[in-house]
Amino acid sequence: MEENIQEILLTEAQIQKRINELGKILSEDYRDKNPIIIGVLKGVVVFYADMIRRLNIPCQMEFMWISSYEGTDSTGSVIIKQDIAADIEGRHVLVLEDIFDTGNSLTFVHKHLMDKKPASLKICTLLDKPSRRKPGVTLEADYVGFTIPNAFVVGYGLDYNEYYRNLPYVGILKPEAYT
Ligand code: 5GP
Ligand code: MG
Repeated sequence: MEENIQEILLTEAQIQKRINELGKILSEDYRDKNPIIIGVLKGVVVFYADMIRRLNIPCQMEFMWISSYEGTDSTGSVIIKQDIAADIEGRHVLVLEDIFDTGNSLTFVHKHLMDKKPASLKICTLLDKPSRRKPGVTLEADYVGFTIPNAFVVGYGLDYNEYYRNLPYVGILKPEAYT
């Protein structure tokens, strides 16, 4: 597995340090708001588990499972495999995502959740690849862990064909591993 990693982009220590920082900011911003934290499966699982434990405020956990990606290129279409179970009307909602790439998925998720009339809806993404944004996408993340260059990354929840999610760091996959 690790022999297919060309370069470690973010180490475990760098990620944990940033999550601690975000945890303080989010705990402050959501104090007394009793937020619902929605994770977008499956890529967010590792980030979600670490992030939620840095929030020292009452909050609820929800998950939404969508699919939009095949191999290293987005198919452009998003489908809901599993919607959230809770009623979010009138509630403060924070969406956690692994990566903001073309913006297809988050634009879809944002619209889908806005239709449920939350009191507020914000987005926190671990990684942001602004250079990949599709023209016409106006949505922006409210909280960003790291802005990264245009490379296909794996690990810390992110997969290539369902593998590499369990790497503890974020790494760039060797192009020859795509085959
Ligand atoms: P979007 O293009 O819609 O912004 O991103 C959709 C999804 O594509 C992300 O949630 C993530 O699952 C996947 N994705 C985008 N860029 C990468 C990447 O560099 N590596 C991996 N493993 N997945 C990515
Ligand atoms: Mg994802």
